[in-house]
Amino acid sequence: MKPLTTSPDIVVLFSGGLDSLLTAKLLQRQGLSVRCWHAFSPFFGKPRARDFWRATYGLDVHTEDVGEAFAAMLRQGPSHGFGKVLNPCVDCKIHLLRRAKIYMESVGAQALASGEVPGQRPMSQRRDVMRVIAREAGVADILVRPLGAGLLEPSMPERKGLVDRSRLASISGRGRAGQFALAARFGITEIPTPAGGCRLTDRENARRYWPLLTRPGEPTSADFDLANLGRQFWARDGETRFWLCVGRNKEDNEGLAQAAKSGDALLFLRDMPGPTALARDGAHWPSGILLRAAKLTAFRSPRAVAGGEAAAVCVKTGEKERTLAAEPEHVVFFEGPPSFDLVHDERRRRFPPQNL
Ligand code: SF4
Repeated sequence: MKPLTTSPDIVVLFSGGLDSLLTAKLLQRQGLSVRCWHAFSPFFGKPRARDFWRATYGLDVHTEDVGEAFAAMLRQGPSHGFGKVLNPCVDCKIHLLRRAKIYMESVGAQALASGEVPGQRPMSQRRDVMRVIAREAGVADILVRPLGAGLLEPSMPERKGLVDRSRLASISGRGRAGQFALAARFGITEIPTPAGGCRLTDRENARRYWPLLTRPGEPTSADFDLANLGRQFWARDGETRFWLCVGRNKEDNEGLAQAAKSGDALLFLRDMPGPTALARDGAHWPSGILLRAAKLTAFRSPRAVAGGEAAAVCVKTGEKERTLAAEPEHVVFFEGPPSFDLVHDERRRRFPPQNL
């Protein structure tokens, strides 16, 4: 899609939430040419909404996949620690600002803007932490925060006259009244639903991701995409771990079929409806373990359970397909994700809380 703006003055970090929308609008309204930059990963982002944002809000949005860098950061442990769940908010913001700066330079813009509001979030939007974030990201000289600008020291883009400080806002704190009033002033009737969509802040998702983060080997962005799908099961035999994802519905089943890569095995019932399951690296699993996975897959088919006999479970690896006779059975060998309490305790032990 052709951008609406050919040479933007300023790039806005755009999550798709109300704060970043108002940030873009505040700048557009003072005549600046604005380009939005939207990062996405297995944990956050809605890259498919790009056309909607353009049609509904008149915003030009560039989308960028930051999933691999995030997977690496989670694996190493963020240098500023985690929030309450698995959310590395301070490192996340630093990383996104660095990436946005690279994009800003590539399109010849002069400044960056973010929708942060002082005091809105307990940690990453504390004023002192906001300063650390901007400094570590190397954007202290080019970053403006239009929603809370009136309450912050004038930024360089304001001091240089690129951005008119008198036309920015003075919003702070956790309330949303200031944002809603501004949206009404701009005639925005389609209010985005609260961003809150970061999966790393959700306990259930933390349980899905933890086995991936603690098993030997480097999880990739695609691994985290897979962890977002279906029911998750893990098994261990000595040092080796076996990861099985079982679809809960048609959408999961299709997602799992698409997520299969070379070396994976897809399992599904040959003669009756039932789930699709994906065994990561299943082409290399010992046959006994694959049979246990087939039994678990059959156990998730009500028809197979009602039949009370061995079901025919196809195991597809690449172009090869074979059939196993598997009694529907919830095999104890495969376990569901760990409890959140366990994740929380282990996370604190491996990555002790950091002070900023
Ligand atoms: S909630 Fe998620 S997306 Fe937002 S700053 Fe924290 S880690 Fe990043």
